[in-house]
Amino acid sequence: MYPHLLEPLDLGFTKLKNRVLMGSMHTGLEEDKSGLQKLAEFYGARAKGGVGLIVTGGFSPNFRGRLHPFSAQFSKEKHVNAHKVVTETVHKHGGKIALQLLHAGRYAMHPLALSASGIKAPIAKFAPFEMSRRQINNTIKDFANSAKLAQQAGYDGVEIMGSEGYLINQFICSRTNARYDEWGGSYENRIRFALEIVRATRRQVGSDFIIIFRLSMLDLVEQGSTFEEVVELAQALESAGVTLINTGIGWHEAKVPTIATQVPRAAFSWVTEKVKPHVSIPVITCNRINTPEDAERILASGQADMVSMARPFLADPEFVRKASESKRELINTCIGCNQACLDNVFKGKRASCLVNPIACYETELKITPADKAKRIAVVGAGPAGLACATTLAERGHEVELFEKNDRIGGQFRLAMQIPGKEEFRETIRYFANRIDQTGVTLRLDTEATKDMLDSFDEIVMASGVEPRKIQLKGIDESSKVVDYQTLIREKVPVGERVAVIGAGGIGVDVASMITEPQEHTLEDWLHDWGIDKSMSHAGGLYPHPESISDKQVWLLQRKKGRMGKGPGKTTGWIHKRTLEKRGVEMLSGLSYENIDDKGLHIKLAGQEKVLDADTVVVCAGQESVRPFEDKWQQFEGKLHVIGGADYAGELDAVRAIRQGVELAIKL
Ligand code: NAP
Ligand code: SF4
Repeated sequence: MYPHLLEPLDLGFTKLKNRVLMGSMHTGLEEDKSGLQKLAEFYGARAKGGVGLIVTGGFSPNFRGRLHPFSAQFSKEKHVNAHKVVTETVHKHGGKIALQLLHAGRYAMHPLALSASGIKAPIAKFAPFEMSRRQINNTIKDFANSAKLAQQAGYDGVEIMGSEGYLINQFICSRTNARYDEWGGSYENRIRFALEIVRATRRQVGSDFIIIFRLSMLDLVEQGSTFEEVVELAQALESAGVTLINTGIGWHEAKVPTIATQVPRAAFSWVTEKVKPHVSIPVITCNRINTPEDAERILASGQADMVSMARPFLADPEFVRKASESKRELINTCIGCNQACLDNVFKGKRASCLVNPIACYETELKITPADKAKRIAVVGAGPAGLACATTLAERGHEVELFEKNDRIGGQFRLAMQIPGKEEFRETIRYFANRIDQTGVTLRLDTEATKDMLDSFDEIVMASGVEPRKIQLKGIDESSKVVDYQTLIREKVPVGERVAVIGAGGIGVDVASMITEPQEHTLEDWLHDWGIDKSMSHAGGLYPHPESISDKQVWLLQRKKGRMGKGPGKTTGWIHKRTLEKRGVEMLSGLSYENIDDKGLHIKLAGQEKVLDADTVVVCAGQESVRPFEDKWQQFEGKLHVIGGADYAGELDAVRAIRQGVELAIKL
């Protein structure tokens, strides 16, 4: 079904069983006390699921290259034995695995940071020290030494991290390299560090060991590399002994989204395609590839030789196996939300996955057959109810799922209608197929009553939330007012001037939906973010006109201070920048006075003001839906309340789905 994706790749000294690379992703287990055992289970499950080659999260080749003070290193004899559990587990399942070597350079979050020059990164706390020649030579040796140790630990290769703005990238670009010696100045000098690392590594590991180099093909920052420079380096890397070139897109400090859900699928494969004809070793493409069809299309059209996916393997360890067994409809697709993976890592927490809470918790959350099969009712087919019902049925329980609407999905059905969030559709598709596969009895258009539930052994109340109604003079009489749920669900047309009450995640989504241009192709998206597809400008960026919407939108909040960022740490800035680019006016620290024919009356900094809105959208959070709550005490001992029905404040799908799965594992 996916002939190109499943075709083996012969590297001469070794063969990969297909064209799928599980890209490097930091999970937080690298630093965990018994993390290597957990990592072994995590990678083992992906190897068992058929991934051709796995790349670990980044390990520093020395002390000063650590990203955080407690980040993991791989540089000593003791690491060899410790990591064998990982390599042996992956090999046991027929997989291959490479260790990523990452020196953070000026991105290091500690005062011992080193870089090509002492130029502080805009996203770092500390200015780096400029590396002495001795430190440069020692760092080259450290990379090679770590690679040798990785080989001894049983790894099949290493990936040398030369992109995303980390140390090697900092040497390559004049943005961060202001040296006058043989390591700076001309491009030839600036790429010397990368090439010496590869040469030294190849000398240490011999010819039969995979060396992947993650090459920054599109820096997306000023004073980044030009296309000619990227090609020159790619060719030099090939001569220096690299086995595979992986694509890197964008430095971490770039002001362009590269992997968030708003980024169109496979939005950067054209970059790999441009570089590929200039080298004869295989090249790997990546970024926002999350389905076997997209991967197959990329490979079939010759854009790349391999496809790297990282987050899709958090979402589903069996992605490859399901694709190869024509069970694509059962793949739990990564929706690009970052909410449980990168957002967690940035908060110093262990990564997991919104759609698959078992990811990185393989040793703790195990789905095993139930001791005793029970009859269980689940009320509500939103994310929490779906996750709970299908996991319960997988364990052997007899499950009935009651949904008052005519279809499943709950809040995800709203989310998928927000431009850039269409991926939520995939999760609904996945659960619809899981319902069939696990044998859950689905009762649509059925509002569960107490009498219906009486006979069940256990009752799970996952009845969700409804929009909060707010008290405001004139609100009930005004025809201008609509709540976000009605607006999205019924596609209510809005006027030219729109006031959005509430600037949480949903207010931001609504403002973005209202101002979204009608037609938006990949080319438009690249243009909006200033990406130069011809790659004739350094870093692949060009000055571009701001995309201003023709609508006047006010996004409003009573609290003072920052707003419009949305809840996600790694995506909030994208929402904010998008709204700014579209001219959305964000007002905070105000009070709402009333609504009448003139519009929405507010008080801001002591001044009364009328926003002459044609439409007022209320996005003021949610309240729990708890049907026949007054009778719940009659179900004592067998009633379990999860998701928004349990607690509507700060509701998010990560919590809802996790709660559903955790409960299902216990019952
Ligand atoms: P929210 O984040 O709780 O925001 C509610 C907004 O309504 C706040 O801005 C609040 O600000 C305002 N508000 C609350 N009570 C009000 C009242 N009585 N009158 C007027 N304004 C009122 O809720 P949400 O935006 O509905 O989002 C719900 C959840 O969905 C969030 O927790 C979020 O995690 C999730 N979500 C996530 C994303 C994402 O991209 N990751 C996107 C959408 C939603 P003031 O009280 O200061 O005015
Ligand atoms: Fe993908 Fe979201 Fe899961 Fe991260 S949390 S792996 S982005 S679905």
